[in-house]
Amino acid sequence: MKSCLVVDDSKVIRKVARHILEGLDFTVSEAADGREALDACLASTPDVILLDWNMPVMSGMDFLRALRETPLGARPKVVFCTTENGVAHIRAAIEAGADEYVMKPFDRETLQSKLQIVGAA
Ligand SMILES: [Mg+2]
Repeated sequence: MKSCLVVDDSKVIRKVARHILEGLDFTVSEAADGREALDACLASTPDVILLDWNMPVMSGMDFLRALRETPLGARPKVVFCTTENGVAHIRAAIEAGADEYVMKPFDRETLQSKLQIVGAA
């Protein structure tokens, strides 16, 4: 079973993502900001991370930079979540080490295809 860490400050989005991911046979854990996510990765590195951009404490971008500088046992795949008006962030995210991106709101089919692209589903 693959593991996915859902990082988003919205409890509703975490819940929706969890529901979809569990339906795709993922073991799901959650973090509400980048700091929590980094701690979670150090404790147990997930196969894939679904990452929000705008979060308090530590943003998705800051998390991504910190993650790529942190020596972990494995390199988790990162799927970056953005909104229609956040398209300009995609390039910066990919340059900072994201593997793919998905537009919010996402549905099961979209998320599954993105996970397949990064080889996690
Ligand atoms: Mg957010």
